[in-house]
Amino acid sequence: MRIVFLGPPGAGKGTQAETVSRVEKIPHISSGNLLREAIETGTDTGAKARSYIEKGLLVPDQVVVGIIKDRILKTDCKNGFVLDGFPRTLLQAKILDEMLRTLGKCVDLVFYFVVSEDAVVERLSGRVMCSICGANYHVKFVPPRKKDICDKCNGKLHQRADDKPETVLERLKVYREQTAGLVEYYRNNKILKEISSDLKIEVISKNIADIINNELKKQKKTKVG
Ligand code: AMP
Repeated sequence: MRIVFLGPPGAGKGTQAETVSRVEKIPHISSGNLLREAIETGTDTGAKARSYIEKGLLVPDQVVVGIIKDRILKTDCKNGFVLDGFPRTLLQAKILDEMLRTLGKCVDLVFYFVVSEDAVVERLSGRVMCSICGANYHVKFVPPRKKDICDKCNGKLHQRADDKPETVLERLKVYREQTAGLVEYYRNNKILKEISSDLKIEVISKNIADIINNELKKQKKTKVG
């Protein structure tokens, strides 16, 4: 199952993508995490991406597309993946479709996370991230068991530089101007499912799981029929 998570920063895509990845046994691919890793390890891609990320702007399409293509072609993606944060422009969406088409595949489901901008600002201002494994927490809504320490790997938690209030507002503006239009693109493709992000984390996970299971059933029927 090839799944795309679409929605503004802070909508809870990363948290839900982790759950889907665990349940469906498919990799969670976060373009933001891949870019941050590239910056940490000092690759050319990282050097090209750094200044855009710091300003809350989108990294140029060709830079992100390169890193995502390499990741999707890895063998652990043969049964699918959850894409979180990619695509973010119409060109990226078209390149993804074309790439999957050449592999005889397609995007099966797009979850569109609907959330108010006020909620986004509250979520991002309390978000902390593991400096080792990239896991996300929220000081109020998803606190780690030990303050400032990652539950999964004991890494130190820190606030992302681009979660500062002024950068968050820029990221929301960029989302409105460059990414929100993808909702129509995927709605026209009839694979868009709206998910309310204002519910409890477990309820959102259940709603997503139900939709995935329905889709899997539908696909099984089509194969048999
Ligand atoms: P995220 O972790 O998804 O919030 O992404 C953090 C930052 O990485 C974004 O604000 C962008 O600067 C950059 N980024 C992540 N994914 C993309 C993408 N698909 N296209 C362009 N820039 C991206």
